[in-house]
Amino acid sequence: TKCGQDGNFSEGEMIPFGPIALNPSSGVLNYGQGLFEGLKAYRTTDDSILLFRPEENALRMRTGAERMCMPAPSVEQFVDAVKQTVLANKRWVPPTGKGSLYIRPLLMGSGAVLGLAPAPEYTFIIFVSPVGNYFKEGLAPINLIVEDKFHRATPGGTGSVKTIGNYASVLMAQKIAKEKGYSDVLYLDAVHKKYLEEVSSCNIFVVKGNVISTPAVKGTILPGITRKSIIDVALSKGFQVEERLVSVDELLEADEVFCTGTAVVVSPVGSNMLATKELVSCLSSYILH
Ligand code: PMP
Repeated sequence: TKCGQDGNFSEGEMIPFGPIALNPSSGVLNYGQGLFEGLKAYRTTDDSILLFRPEENALRMRTGAERMCMPAPSVEQFVDAVKQTVLANKRWVPPTGKGSLYIRPLLMGSGAVLGLAPAPEYTFIIFVSPVGNYFKEGLAPINLIVEDKFHRATPGGTGSVKTIGNYASVLMAQKIAKEKGYSDVLYLDAVHKKYLEEVSSCNIFVVKGNVISTPAVKGTILPGITRKSIIDVALSKGFQVEERLVSVDELLEADEVFCTGTAVVVSPVGSNMLATKELVSCLSSYILH
């Protein structure tokens, strides 16, 4: 579906997956005026299909659109478009326990601009793909490298929204980490270079006794929807949850560390995973039953 700067999106259409035409001087190609979301549809044990908190993704896209000077679909339009896309691709939703259908909504400045400015026209598309585990380790521990040279976000930048440019800046750090045998990169804050931020595509949590700490959402990390859900689950299980500055030194003293995200769901970092396992099982029963 398309719209002008007024944000009145046209009636959408379902088209087969394939290349789309894009103006060479579009805002997205020239100035990175693009946002995306990522969410999943799961097949439940009674064979119905469940979307995990799509309204949260719609709201996050709306917040991001404001930062990127773009109009965005309403929560209702977003959720309805996601539902229709999933229904049209129902056969691609894997059986329970065998993965999920990853849903990728994209909002982009598709209108032509030459001088730096927001585009005059926007396109909203959704594509889907069946997926399995994000990390080859599955639910086995992953190993992260603490990055001290590259940063993914700076205060005042766009780190807290899901804009395409944030991911361009981390490609190189991730490539180097993978070449060295690490699963992914753990970023530190760009000012003090000592507080945890997040991993390339997930949020991070540190467990010490009954206390679970995670970096507070203060402009440079993405407010993850899985993060929010895990905080709720942890509180309901009697853990104390602290959203605060978490120093990199705390990793060494932690009982457990894990990360959360739509793609990774919950991944343990390192070999201790008692609390992590408990939270994973609560979250999956929450999703699947
Ligand atoms: N941080 C970043 C940078 C991400 O790309 C993601 C994935 N969307 C997350 C955290 C986790 O967010 P969510 O739980 O909403 O997938």
